[in-house]
Amino acid sequence: MSGPILPGATLGVMGGGQLGRMFIHAAQRMGYFTAVLDPDAASPAGRVSHHHIVAAYLDAPGLGQLAETCDAITTEFENVPAPALARLAAYTTVSPAAASVAIAQDRAAEKAHFVACGVPCAPYAVLETPVQLAAIDEALLPGILKTSRMGYDGKGQVRVATYAELAQAWLDLKGVPCVLEKMLPLAAECSVIVARGADGQIVNLPIQRNLHREGILAVTEVYEENMPPAQVASALAAAKSIANGLDYVGVLCVEFFVLQDGSLVVNEIAPRPHNSGHASMDCCDVSQFELQVRTLTGLPMVQPRQHSPAVMLNLLGDLWFVGSEKATTPPWAEVLALPGAHLHLYGKTTASKGRKMGHLTLTGPTVEAVRTTALQAAAILGIEAF
Ligand code: ATP
Ligand code: MG
Repeated sequence: MSGPILPGATLGVMGGGQLGRMFIHAAQRMGYFTAVLDPDAASPAGRVSHHHIVAAYLDAPGLGQLAETCDAITTEFENVPAPALARLAAYTTVSPAAASVAIAQDRAAEKAHFVACGVPCAPYAVLETPVQLAAIDEALLPGILKTSRMGYDGKGQVRVATYAELAQAWLDLKGVPCVLEKMLPLAAECSVIVARGADGQIVNLPIQRNLHREGILAVTEVYEENMPPAQVASALAAAKSIANGLDYVGVLCVEFFVLQDGSLVVNEIAPRPHNSGHASMDCCDVSQFELQVRTLTGLPMVQPRQHSPAVMLNLLGDLWFVGSEKATTPPWAEVLALPGAHLHLYGKTTASKGRKMGHLTLTGPTVEAVRTTALQAAAILGIEAF
């Protein structure tokens, strides 16, 4: 067995979005060279990487070039086709494995995995054929119809109250494979990020309490009192069992719903760092992106330690249009006058509504202090209070 891939080597990432960009930053800080494969010449990660291969995810020459350039390759985007990762794995180290990514890319396969791990998820039915539509149990209504593949930020989801609405919604989605999920009464949402090495060693970031607005993550709060200890313990145990069950190597995010009776059900997994883990860059001694570098290269895994309470605000393109039709730069200087404000912008040149442009993490000495500055930042930026 060979040792870890040490700094000086070249690490690659499939996908050039903000998650790739923050992975590149972490890798470069540790002394690695980097490569990105993304079709967009102006992609956020491509702009900061040593190498940027401008090619489609399944482009054979592009994949060949990436494999030749890199000592190890990871992915930042759940919709990078699993077969592309499988091809790369024939030439170089790849994590997470194509098989794990393939499961996370398909809601039906993902839910079957939760069931196999004994982790409860929302009641659901797979909807791929008219026969399955006819057989839908009406106890699943009202529900949410979700396309099995290619969904993100609430895209590809339709809320349906009746059987007739369900049938129409599936027709509108052109009959692509879907799952129908029962609409659950949510008291809260949370997520856990685990990192698992090739040797099976697993570490976790502190539990994240998440607020979504219109299907998009808006606010994440990370501090010890954010969730009752029993819920934290059960979320951690579930996340670890899901990662172990996949024999997963890499960073994995597991999202949960907290129901009104206090019980937890798993929502979905992301085979990569996650928006809800961004605070780790500023409030923990090891970030989710450094964990991604460590799992990819086989460097030692150490349990991250949180040193400050934190609140993260997502900065959506909407903030560029507060009180004006024309895009206007938000008042960054005012926000940065707040103590413990950490601004992260992803280098995207055009803002549009719902587009993730960056995030702002507030850290502070106490939960009260950090919540106060986060609410001040939200007020300055035009983000609804939470
Ligand atoms: P992302 O990839 O950005 O996390 P997504 O498009 O995969 O999002 P989901 O996580 O499935 O979408 O759902 C988005 C949000 O919609 C959830 O975080 C939750 O707020 C709400 N939601 C989804 N499913 C249900 C459900 N069964 N009951 C109640 N609310 C739900
Ligand atoms: Mg989600």
